[in-house]
Amino acid sequence: MKSSRLLLAALVVCATPAAARPSAGRIALTFDDLPALTIIPDQAYVNDLSRRLLAELRRHHVPAIGFVNESKLDDLDRAQQIGVLRAWLNAGMELGNHTFSHDAPEELGARGYVEDIARGEAVTRPLMAEHGKREQWFRHPYLKTGYPVAVRDAIDAWLTAHGYRIAPVTMDADDWEFAEPYDYAIAHHDAAGAAHIKAEYLSHTEDMIHWYRAAAQVLFHRDIAYVMLLHATRLNADSFGDLFAMLKRNRLKPVPLAEAMRDPAYRTPDGYMGKEGVDWMERWALALHRHLPREDKNDPPRDIQQAYDKVDDDRCSGGSECSNSPAPPAPAGKG
Ligand SMILES: [Zn+2]
Repeated sequence: MKSSRLLLAALVVCATPAAARPSAGRIALTFDDLPALTIIPDQAYVNDLSRRLLAELRRHHVPAIGFVNESKLDDLDRAQQIGVLRAWLNAGMELGNHTFSHDAPEELGARGYVEDIARGEAVTRPLMAEHGKREQWFRHPYLKTGYPVAVRDAIDAWLTAHGYRIAPVTMDADDWEFAEPYDYAIAHHDAAGAAHIKAEYLSHTEDMIHWYRAAAQVLFHRDIAYVMLLHATRLNADSFGDLFAMLKRNRLKPVPLAEAMRDPAYRTPDGYMGKEGVDWMERWALALHRHLPREDKNDPPRDIQQAYDKVDDDRCSGGSECSNSPAPPAPAGKG
């Protein structure tokens, strides 16, 4: 009896070799807010995190794209900030436009917003041309695409007329919210604090990978080729080996953005007409009249949210990182 049950179990396992495992998927990794998103206004810190992140990407043969805010070039040493962009291209990565200032469309209006996009290509476009590449991708800061619809339409028309393609976001693990407390811990030589934040970040990211895959099942009944939003941060530079292992464990293979965008899912209309910044799973759910799973889409842990708020308060009420900064506060929020 026992042996026949074992035999039956073995037959069941053999009969379903692939069904029990998640199927292989693809993912494009996109890093926003280049040259870097950091609360530490120090060129050596920016150079170091960029070098580490690019070394990790190359070590794992991962193609990536970085979205640039050219207003940041003058936050620190302009020549070295441009050197960071050049290092991305020398490492074989793409660059894209993330507007000059990282302002939202409601602050600038349609005309001001497209002027801000045009201003944001002054350095990046010729730099890419030197590397035989053409700047063609645009990522909306905060994932705000324009409101009301007439503003969005005007922005979309300008992007199309100027040869840009919009880079949507279909996976997002709120990395920016972990990155500032992580910088703070590094700046205060708090190794235990940094390790704790990194562990929480990785755990949250894996939860979010599962959630976005569940969302793709609701919308398309399959894995899509995801476009993941990350930022150019010290946290991602220090976590990349673990992130890469996580993608591998989840059978997600990094591919260039253009390849991910060939997935027909990206032809789904954007059904969102509001003014908030929302990802494309939410936009497609509205267009397709489907309900995304709500229960498992968690915000970052409470202690991370509190740490983020504290760092942000410190920075803007004259904390050490803030008062030394020649720059305006770094943009916060997704995208
Ligand atoms: Zn951004």
